[in-house]
Amino acid sequence: MAQTASPRPENIQNTARPNMAGWWICCNCQGENNPVLNSGRCTICEHKQCPSCRPA
Ligand SMILES: [Zn+2]
Ligand SMILES: [Zn+2]
Repeated sequence: MAQTASPRPENIQNTARPNMAGWWICCNCQGENNPVLNSGRCTICEHKQCPSCRPA
């Protein structure tokens, strides 16, 4: 029975980026928006956040 050395599990954890939480991508200019700096409006093109905008 061949026993392969199993590689040590290193840091395979998904390193969530907490600073990106809540960010959203403007569907108009594809710009990333920080909800802390702007609530509901794109800082780049001033597009109002709509259902077509997606989370970053
Ligand atoms: Zn925009
Ligand atoms: Zn939109």
